[in-house]
Amino acid sequence: MNAQSPDPALADLLASRPSLQTDVRDGLMFEGVPLHVIAAAVGTPCWITGAGTLRRRADSLRAAFEARHLPVSFHFAVKSQDHQATLTMLHQCGYGADIVSGGEMKRALAAGIPAANIVFSGVGKTDAELRMAVEQDIAQVNVESVEELYRLDQIAGSMGRVARAALRVNPDVDANTHDKISTGRAGDKFGIEHARAVSLYSEASGLRSIKLVGLAVHLGSQMLTAQPFRLGYQRLADMVREIRSFGGIVESIDCGGGLGIRYRDETAPAPEMLAGVIAETLGDLDVRLSVEPGRWLSAPTGILLSRVIETKAGNPEFVVIDAAMNDLMRPALYDSWHGILPVAPQHFTAPVSPRDVVGPVCESSDIFARDRALPDLERGDLVALLDTGAYGAVMSSTYNSRPFATQVMVDDHRWQIIRERQTVEELIAAESVPDWIKPRNA
Ligand SMILES: *Cc1c(COP(=O)(O)O)cnc(C)c1O
Repeated sequence: MNAQSPDPALADLLASRPSLQTDVRDGLMFEGVPLHVIAAAVGTPCWITGAGTLRRRADSLRAAFEARHLPVSFHFAVKSQDHQATLTMLHQCGYGADIVSGGEMKRALAAGIPAANIVFSGVGKTDAELRMAVEQDIAQVNVESVEELYRLDQIAGSMGRVARAALRVNPDVDANTHDKISTGRAGDKFGIEHARAVSLYSEASGLRSIKLVGLAVHLGSQMLTAQPFRLGYQRLADMVREIRSFGGIVESIDCGGGLGIRYRDETAPAPEMLAGVIAETLGDLDVRLSVEPGRWLSAPTGILLSRVIETKAGNPEFVVIDAAMNDLMRPALYDSWHGILPVAPQHFTAPVSPRDVVGPVCESSDIFARDRALPDLERGDLVALLDTGAYGAVMSSTYNSRPFATQVMVDDHRWQIIRERQTVEELIAAESVPDWIKPRNA
């Protein structure tokens, strides 16, 4: 895992995360709430979402685009963090939703996000999901293939409706990101090849139940430089001109998400970078624009709080914590690096040495960190895994019969449980045993 440069020191991790503070008595605090208080009250592992952090980021992203006077609407990528409290807050901040399933559509609607502010992306939408999108009259369906476009036309037609759609284009741009989160290269499964998209645009004008409103793109995730955004959006701009030269009407461009954050020591771009690139590449096309940030908004809002179950002396020295890959899957799935901070006040001044931080699940990939410089943690000590707000709780499973962890929201010295810990009894209660395999003499 990313062993090129030394890991940032604990003090550096803290200094670059303004929502975290340390207190000489209470140790690590998130938005003014001591983490040991939450652990004592609700147990561990526990997800903590910072409402203030989310609001601040939502506002600063908006401000970056407003400074450019761009006609932009904002759609939060629900898949990164789908809690009702999160969606409700983002709705209040003026955000709509970018969804990838019927389930996410229901979540967005339940949080009060109007259908007119919902866009539906995703490479495999079922008939039922498309029907629901037409029924709810959402802002647009980003279709990912010729086949899907025709299927949507047929479904909308059978309902006597007209569906607004955008063509999701694969611009064949390398996002320079991890292979498993790249989406805009020719071999990736997403989108319509860009040459095909231009011809499809004129073809689609013959479809009775589709109104093509524009193009959509999503290049990848955790993108840290301007260049791939610039290349991708330039391609889109060229396509818009080409489509218009054939008489096509392009009203809107959906720019996707993908803006990266600092997990370790990356130089993460500010949203002003993205706003600038969009202004320069798409600003003079006279189209409505939209952006779909997920990770940039949600990752820094989350902490996964965990307690040390056991330490295992040796080389390497293992610290076994009570969170695992079933809770936070990213390290096992993408080799991702998450900052780990101790919670007790004395640990911030103690000497550090390398340790492997692992979960208790019976898989070798259940490892959160290798050779991580940490103080001498003991059984019972608390640790906080940082920047786990995106693609964290949403990816949890119950592997090893480990129920979904508690979720808590903090906000300016307040905190509240926003999802109770699931119980093993609930897991079992959802299962049934067919009569024919029940013991005969039971
Ligand atoms: C996942 C996704 C996003 C959000 O990506 P982030 O990297 O989290 O910003 C936006 N749009 C689409 C279509 C996506 O699939």
